[in-house]
Amino acid sequence: MTDTVTNWAGNITYTAKEVHRPHSLDALRALVAASATVRVLGSGHSFNEIAEPGPEGVLLSIAGLPPVLDVDTAARTVRVSGGVRYAELARAVHSHGLALPNMASLPHISVAGSVATGTHGSGVANGPLASAVREVELAVADGSAVRIARGDDRFDGAVTSLGALGVVTALTLDLEPAYEVEQHLHTELPLEGLDFGTFETIMASAYSVSLFTDWRAPGFRQVWRKRRTDQPLPDFPWAPPATEKLHPVPGMPAVNCTEQFGVPGPWHERLPHFRAEFVPSSGAELQSEYLLPRPHALEALHALDAIRTTLAPVTQTCEVRTVAADSQWLSPAYGRDTVALHFTWVEDTETVLPVVRRLEEALDAYGARPHWGKVFTMPAPAVRGLYPRLGDFRALAGALDPAGKFTNAFVRDVLEG
Ligand SMILES: Cc1cc2nc3c(=O)[nH]c(=O)nc-3n(C[C@H](O)[C@H](O)[C@H](O)COP(=O)(O)OP(=O)(O)OC[C@H]3O[C@@H](n4cnc5c(N)ncnc54)[C@H](O)[C@@H]3O)c2cc1C
Repeated sequence: MTDTVTNWAGNITYTAKEVHRPHSLDALRALVAASATVRVLGSGHSFNEIAEPGPEGVLLSIAGLPPVLDVDTAARTVRVSGGVRYAELARAVHSHGLALPNMASLPHISVAGSVATGTHGSGVANGPLASAVREVELAVADGSAVRIARGDDRFDGAVTSLGALGVVTALTLDLEPAYEVEQHLHTELPLEGLDFGTFETIMASAYSVSLFTDWRAPGFRQVWRKRRTDQPLPDFPWAPPATEKLHPVPGMPAVNCTEQFGVPGPWHERLPHFRAEFVPSSGAELQSEYLLPRPHALEALHALDAIRTTLAPVTQTCEVRTVAADSQWLSPAYGRDTVALHFTWVEDTETVLPVVRRLEEALDAYGARPHWGKVFTMPAPAVRGLYPRLGDFRALAGALDPAGKFTNAFVRDVLEG
C-alpha cells in the first residue's frame, strides 16, 4: 500500500515506495525479512530525515501492533511495546503506584522513537530517557528476535541506536515508586552578572529546571522549577515568582500546559510541560537542539546572547536544560554532564536554516552535539568527531544488520568515515 505520510511538523514528506502498518509481530517479521530497506516510523515527532527510508525503501509504522504494557510491581519494571507513547505508558505505570524517573517536554512521543534519538527532559541528576531502559527487543534483518539487556557488551549501542539495528518491538524499563511534583515558575532571570556557580545552583534548585527566552531581550523570560514533593525546594532569590500561568511560547495559551503555581500532582502530569490531550509546543514550528559539556554553559549562553538579534526574529522560544551524562555510545549526553540548548523556530525552513548555521558557528568551540531528531546543518564529519565510541556502534550495526537494511542516508552519514 502507498500513501502520503509526513512527520508531525509537516516539514518532511517521506518518499518511501511502500508504507506498512502490520497488525501482528509475525506479519512484521515477515515484512522485514522480505524487504531490502526498512525504516521504522515512531510517532513522527522528529524534524529531520532520520526516519526517511528513501524512494526504494519501506516505511514501517508499528502503531498498529497490539500494545504491550506489562508492569511488574515486584521487580519495579515495565515491558512496553516500542510504538506505545509515553502518555499511555505513564498512566499504566502510575496506576500501579510506580513512576518513570523523567519525561520529555511532551508525552505524545513513542518510547522506541524517543530513546532512539537520545530524547531527554531536564535535571542535573537525570540522564536521557534511554537511561531507564534495561532491555531492548529487536526484530533484526532476517526477521528474527534479538534481546539485548544491560550487562551485555552490546547494550551501550542498543538503545540510542537511531533505528539502525532493527525494529525495536519492545523495551523493558526501570521504575521507581510514584512521586508527586509541583511546578514553580519565575520570570525575568538576568544573564548579565550570572556566574557559573550560580547557574549550577539555579539548575540544581529543583528535580528538573528549564530556562526559557525568546532572545528578544537579554536574559531569560521564564524559569520552570519542577520540584519533587519528597525533596526540598530551596529559596529562589534570582527571579520573582510568576504572577500568571505561562506557556513557554509567548502568546500561546497556558491551558495547554501542565498545572503550575505549586499545585502538587502525579509525576507524569507535571514533568512534561505540555498536557497529553493538547497540541504540544506551538504546533507550527521547527526545532533544533545542541548538547554540550555543562562547564561551557555560560560561555555558550553569552555566545548566543551575542547573536541575539539574529536568533530573535525566527525564535518562538529557546529552552535551556541539563542532562546527566549517560553511557549510550550515540547519546548526545554520552560521557559528559550536559547543558542542552533548544530552539523552537518559526516553521519556515528557508528562513531558519541560515540561522541554524549561524548558531552552529557560535557553538562550534564548545563541542556541541546536535539532537538526532531535530534540524541541524553540521557536516557529517564534524558530527562523527564528537562520538568517541562511533567505531563500536559501527561494528554493532554491521554485526546485526550486515546488508544495511536499516540504514538510510541519515544513518550512512553518521556511520561513514
Ligand atoms: C513538540 C515537540 C517537543 C519535543 N520535546 C522534546 C524534548 O523535550 N526533549 C527531547 O529530547 N526531544 C524532544 N522532541 C524531539 C522528539 O522527542 C524526538 O524527535 C523523538 O525521537 C520523537 O520520537 P518519535 O517516536 O516521534 O520518533 P520518530 O520521529 O518517529 O523516529 C525517530 C527515530 O527513531 C526510529 N524509530 C522509531 N521507532 C522505532 C522502532 N520501534 N524501532 C526502531 N527504530 C525506531 C526512527 O526510525 C527514527 O530513526 C520534541 C519534538 C516535538 C515535536
